[in-house]
Amino acid sequence: MDSTGDISIISNEDYQFYKRSKIINLISASCSEDDLFLKSKKIYDDNKIKFIYDHVLKVTHEKQQILLRNGLILNYDYLLIASGGSPIMLPWKGVDLEGVNTLYRLDDAKKVVKQVFNAKRVVVIGGGSIAMKALSNFKKIGLDISIIEKAWIFRYYSFIIQNS
Ligand SMILES: Cc1cc2nc3c(=O)[nH]c(=O)nc-3n(C[C@H](O)[C@H](O)[C@H](O)COP(=O)(O)OP(=O)(O)OC[C@H]3O[C@@H](n4cnc5c(N)ncnc54)[C@H](O)[C@@H]3O)c2cc1C
Repeated sequence: MDSTGDISIISNEDYQFYKRSKIINLISASCSEDDLFLKSKKIYDDNKIKFIYDHVLKVTHEKQQILLRNGLILNYDYLLIASGGSPIMLPWKGVDLEGVNTLYRLDDAKKVVKQVFNAKRVVVIGGGSIAMKALSNFKKIGLDISIIEKAWIFRYYSFIIQNS
């Protein structure tokens, strides 16, 4: 690929690149939504980077084409699949109810911010690094927080951290 090629970035999130690891700080307003994005969009213009907000349904590698949910077909010379990760949604009844969330995308964080506004107590399932970052943000806004982790040895703090 040379420096004159066009680059299209397709994302099924409605945003340009943002600092995903910082979304959790929206909870305690330690950062604003604006702080998550690049200060200057110049890098996109300078490199002829175009954002397409859609979901990729299919890649037909024989034809070097991708199909978007809106029906559009795009041709490519080079394709990088950087589709990332997603939280494991646990197979329980009720996980889709209001007040139950995963926290990976900016839209998840915005939902959590709204939902904890009137909350007193938060339970976090999983004691990994996101839980630890959540802990400090929930504490900052005065919430009682319990973290539940199935592993005997916590990679981070303890079996169950309970501050109430
Ligand atoms: C709160 C939080 C804190 C974190 N802190 C740290 C940290 O301190 N250190 C660290 O190393 N990591 C951290 N992480 C993890 C880190 O953010 C991820 O590992 C990283 O974002 C992965 O980058 P990626 O580019 O591979 O994928 P992602 O950031 O997941 O981006 C992939 C994108 O592809 C999109 N996509 C997927 N499928 C399709 C499709 N079919 N069509 C169109 N778009 C699609 C997704 O919606 C997403 O926007 C944190 C994550 C979170 C949520």
